[in-house]
Amino acid sequence: MISVEDARNLLFDLVGPLPSETVALAESAGRILAQDVTATRDQPPFAASSMDGYAVKAAEVELHAMFKVVGEAAAGQRFDGALGPGQAVRIFTGAPVPDGADFVVIQEDVDRRDDLITITDAPGPKANIRPAGIDFAIGTRIDAPRQLRPEDVALMAAMNIASVPVTRKPVVALISTGNELVMPGETPGPDQIIASNTFGLKALLEQIGAHVRVLPIAQDTVASLETAFGLAQGADLVVTIGGASVGEYDLVAQVSESLGMERSFYKIRMRPGKPLMAGRLGDAAMVGLPGNPVSAMVCGYLFLVPMVRRMLGIEQVLTPFQTARLTRPLTENGPREHYMRAVLDPSGIQACDDQDSSLLSVLAQANALLVRAPHDPAQDVGDEVRYLAI
Ligand code: AMP
Ligand code: MG
Repeated sequence: MISVEDARNLLFDLVGPLPSETVALAESAGRILAQDVTATRDQPPFAASSMDGYAVKAAEVELHAMFKVVGEAAAGQRFDGALGPGQAVRIFTGAPVPDGADFVVIQEDVDRRDDLITITDAPGPKANIRPAGIDFAIGTRIDAPRQLRPEDVALMAAMNIASVPVTRKPVVALISTGNELVMPGETPGPDQIIASNTFGLKALLEQIGAHVRVLPIAQDTVASLETAFGLAQGADLVVTIGGASVGEYDLVAQVSESLGMERSFYKIRMRPGKPLMAGRLGDAAMVGLPGNPVSAMVCGYLFLVPMVRRMLGIEQVLTPFQTARLTRPLTENGPREHYMRAVLDPSGIQACDDQDSSLLSVLAQANALLVRAPHDPAQDVGDEVRYLAI
């Protein structure tokens, strides 16, 4: 048995950053920018008014000053010509500031009669002009790698970057194993249950940028498992769920090895999730997760998420643990690292009452995994503990 840390390092050796592809700007949100992109224009491309008002010469601005309105500048339609002394141009937000003007008096500060305006309120020092290139200039760069947020998409749009280089999505094939399982929506027999963690894992991994294929459930037979592994071809990461222990029906190790899986390790000194196997299977990485729903999800957070992040080329693949203070005491931990389902609120953190690894209802209430080192002594209210937010 190896530690969680050693397991993670070995898992990272099984995967590497994937190549990039180009997607339309509108499809780029959430993807990982694979190469730096740069602006090919200035924004704004001209000095622009930031208010509705009148463009004038700053030197002529004073209370009660009068100007003759000689034309109009609107967003998308500049004033052709230059502003002379004593002249003003009606101007709107986003319009180019006319040549000869260097100040915009807001319309609230003037009184207009036909073609004449008078400044009726002292305008103050602000010119209400956005200089050309104030937002970004030609050559302004967005550095890769970076997970693209809606704000980045807006910025790239303004930069006129219509197609975006992003890391290809890692393809993950999920194989549920077990004679007792049926898919959600099907009618289970009297001894059957519904495959659940498969769908939790799909949601978890797609949320961080993988493309997940849920394969048909494999029965606990060699032939059925072989068929499932065959269907997984083309995936970057093949994940089996269940069948990884030492029972008579646990055939994942046997079948994967007969198909050429080179094992990296089997069993991690942790709770939940001890029987986890990993290795290379052809061109793919393979991880065999334990079947208990909570074990599978916890292993998803601890191992699959960082593997997917590594394939995406993200620099910091591990989410650092945070700390909080206990609002309820904890008894001494056993010999394995323990990831306890826990609830974090503004007053602190407390472990859920029942830590059985089959209880999805407890996991669904939890918003943190409270991390305990092997043989961690009993802890009191107020003691600081580590957790991973989920
Ligand atoms: P196993 O690792 O195959 O021995 O499974 C351990 C427990 O997890 C058993 O109670 C299984 O019924 C259950 N289990 C296995 N796979 C799934 C799954 N995909 N969804 C829900 N429960 C599962
Ligand atoms: Mg099973």
